[in-house]
Amino acid sequence: RTVYVNGEYLPEAEATVSIFDRGFLMADGVYEVTSVLGGKLLDFDGHFARLERSLRELDMACPVTKDELLAIHRELVAQNGIDEGMVYLQVTRGNPGDRDFSFPDPATTPSTLVLFTQSKPGLADNPTAKTGIKVISIEDIRWGRRDIKTVQLLYPSMGKMMAKKAGCDDAWMVEDGFVTEGTSNNAYIVKGGRIITRNLGTDILHGITRAAVLRMAAEAQMEIEERPFSVAEAQAADEAFFTSASAFVLPVVEIDGEAVGTGAPGPVAARLREIYLDESRKTAV
Ligand code: PMP
Repeated sequence: RTVYVNGEYLPEAEATVSIFDRGFLMADGVYEVTSVLGGKLLDFDGHFARLERSLRELDMACPVTKDELLAIHRELVAQNGIDEGMVYLQVTRGNPGDRDFSFPDPATTPSTLVLFTQSKPGLADNPTAKTGIKVISIEDIRWGRRDIKTVQLLYPSMGKMMAKKAGCDDAWMVEDGFVTEGTSNNAYIVKGGRIITRNLGTDILHGITRAAVLRMAAEAQMEIEERPFSVAEAQAADEAFFTSASAFVLPVVEIDGEAVGTGAPGPVAARLREIYLDESRKTAV
């Protein structure tokens, strides 16, 4: 693979970042994941806008312009021959040359920008769309600024492992009795034809796929309610599903051992997946 590090395209074995990089020592950085279908980028504008917002919230400057970043994405997709897959991007607060809690002066410590591709043939034709996934619920003990897409992913990783240990695929996190989100996705239920998903705030990531799917659902005259829901309400729903840039829309058929609806993937999730894939392919860059 060819990867990108601070202005250079390099073979992955030659790409290095300092041991003093604040991303490594402090999880002081943010990231984005953009999907590629047919060699083109999905929702690039949304991902760039959220990157800028994450950086702003952490007092970091964006090291490249939007056009430069698009060009880097495209160059990596081309060099690595990616037809279906993802581009991962990370910006950290750089290498101040030592370990210190205080932020370094950005004038002397430039941020570190890293990008790499992941090839995922069959990404759009994921068989899981036909079978759905099983989730467990776990307490959400993450920090309070989940709207910033930081690289602090230890608890979500632990949640994924807890799910696997329980014979499931993912974990939905619960705070004060209500589902916040999945370990790496936004959570939804469907009741009486109405799509219900947690409202935006600092307690969840503002999913780019969430925004696109809700916009497309509204355009298709589907009813949407943005509010928190509990695990019990989800278990009693007609359908459950989740969205993320890398999975698009996928059904959830079981929560904590209880079947959701018929226990099979439902029509609303299937329709939203189809609409999202169709529309996104058309607007891909
Ligand atoms: N919530 C969390 C915690 C996530 O990690 C992700 C995926 N990065 C999402 C939601 C979905 O966001 P997006 O649709 O932008 O991938």
